[in-house]
Amino acid sequence: MTFWQCSKCGYQLKAEEPPEECPSCHEKCLFSDISCYIPECGGEGNIDPRLAGRQVNKD
Ligand SMILES: [Zn+2]
Repeated sequence: MTFWQCSKCGYQLKAEEPPEECPSCHEKCLFSDISCYIPECGGEGNIDPRLAGRQVNKD
């Protein structure tokens, strides 16, 4: 499973593939992979806080 974050509203979800439409802002946003792949954030099955904390696009 992969964690995804909406580039528009910052909504986070866990799924194999990112949804076509964001369940939160109901737009077709870009989803970034915010899964943790390093031991520092707990490894697989966790969110990487550095990726999740990245500034979201507020255009
Ligand atoms: Zn969204």
